[in-house]
Amino acid sequence: MDCLFCKIIRGEIPSRKVYEDKDSVAFLDINPANPGHTLVMPKKHAENIFDADDEMLGRVIVAAKAISKKIKDSLNADGINVIQNNGRHAGQIVNHIHFHIIPRFANDTVIISYPKIKMEDKDFEEIQKKLTESERKVQKNWEMDLM
Ligand code: 5GP
Ligand code: ZN
Repeated sequence: MDCLFCKIIRGEIPSRKVYEDKDSVAFLDINPANPGHTLVMPKKHAENIFDADDEMLGRVIVAAKAISKKIKDSLNADGINVIQNNGRHAGQIVNHIHFHIIPRFANDTVIISYPKIKMEDKDFEEIQKKLTESERKVQKNWEMDLM
């Protein structure tokens, strides 16, 4: 498969690996936001959060937790950002699901920001309605699958 991270996982492209278990692998980001910026991912290819198998994703996030702790302790980080992008418009460049673990330091130069938009109460209500409606639809479809 022509996937950069699959090639790294297969060892066809070198990487600086910092963690590996049966299902997950983590290596240093080649273009880090801070020293210790690590990418954690499943070994089995999945494109994004929609595509990923639930159990596999669960194991990867548990690995991400352990790696976050290791990074925080060993690099003396003051905080950690865990970031996961899905889709080109959300900043995903490599289409193999991965979590960025970014150590943060009190006076670092990393900027993770988004604008704060203005929403009226009725806008919140409408969004909440849309989200809960679709949830009910999903639940209904799921129940129908079981019948
Ligand atoms: P995304 O934007 O898809 O969430 O993040 C992709 C990340 O992969 C980027 O932070 C980028 O620096 C990193 N990256 C891209 N190519 C390579 C590579 O060949 N090796 C490593 N270790 N990281 C890479
Ligand atoms: Zn892949």
